[in-house]
Amino acid sequence: MITQKQNRCQISWQKAQQQSFSNPLKLLDFLEIPPSVYPDLLFKTPFAFKVPYSFAQRMQKRNIHDPLLRQVLPLMAENDLSPEYHLDPVGDQKSIKQPGLLHKYPGRVLLTTTSACAMHCRYCFRRYFPYHDANPLQHNWQTSLDYIAQSSDIHEIILSGGDPLSLSNTKLQHLLHNIHTLTHIQRLRIHTRNLIVLPERIDTGLIQLLSHYPKPIIIVLHINHANEINDQVVRALLPLRQQTHITLLNQSVLLKGVNDNLPALQQLSETLFNTGILPYYLHLLDKVQGAKHFAVNIEKAKYLLHALQNSLSGFLVPKLVTEITGEQSKTPV
Ligand SMILES: *Cc1c(COP(=O)(O)O)cnc(C)c1O
Ligand code: SF4
Repeated sequence: MITQKQNRCQISWQKAQQQSFSNPLKLLDFLEIPPSVYPDLLFKTPFAFKVPYSFAQRMQKRNIHDPLLRQVLPLMAENDLSPEYHLDPVGDQKSIKQPGLLHKYPGRVLLTTTSACAMHCRYCFRRYFPYHDANPLQHNWQTSLDYIAQSSDIHEIILSGGDPLSLSNTKLQHLLHNIHTLTHIQRLRIHTRNLIVLPERIDTGLIQLLSHYPKPIIIVLHINHANEINDQVVRALLPLRQQTHITLLNQSVLLKGVNDNLPALQQLSETLFNTGILPYYLHLLDKVQGAKHFAVNIEKAKYLLHALQNSLSGFLVPKLVTEITGEQSKTPV
């Protein structure tokens, strides 16, 4: 049987996670790039270097401008402080209603289920998020679930983080079960990058869990460049597409040196669609301290979106949005 054979070859995601790169020099060595190319490499950073092996395999050897490498390589520019950049760029702190529960927009709440991610993206807007004080597990989710139970106008729960799929299937099952008991919740959304950067995470246990869940599930992936989707990712996503009724969407961040050109964005949309994923959002960079070197100016962003609209089917064009503190939704640009 093919499935048995596949199972035998598969290593657990926890094991795959242990094989991640935790030192930028090791990654550069793997990519056959001499470290002298990056005199501005940053070694001491509170936001640790972390890259799964399978993600590194999707980078081009000897390409110092590789768009995947750029997303993870810590550079000294992270230490440049800028007055327009902040530790809490989108006003998350003000929206925390319970430890780990953000209620910012009508009808939906977001749970920061864990601080852990399979990979550390250098532009991450939650890189300074105080997960210690906002840990829903401290209270076994109960305060968050009580809050939702008492708010009948909430119809959707978003699992976020960190990455919610850093949780074990057992913990997820417990959480999903609790959410299911809330009868006014109509659907569940999962915001995750782990499924892409660590495709081993899509194991049989996860598929079982998700395919048996009685309410609609939407998974919003986070992919910034078409090269992130290789054969391994396509294969890993297949059971999600074939054995569940999950809607797959994608959000990207517009990042200088990664995807701030028309061919990259076109190819991303086309590749997403071919993989069964629809483009949802293209975010302007959230102005988090240390990420300024990723910023794309707004005129260029508008130009790129316009050019995308003029070259692709409508459903392949993501919504270009930015997050403004205090607004009732993401703001279209
Ligand atoms: C972005 C975000 C959402 C989801 O917004 P949608 O426009 O529905 O995708 C929900 N809650 C918080 C706190 C968010 O930051
Ligand atoms: S996976 Fe998402 S939350 Fe985690 S570091 Fe990357 S951008 Fe941040």
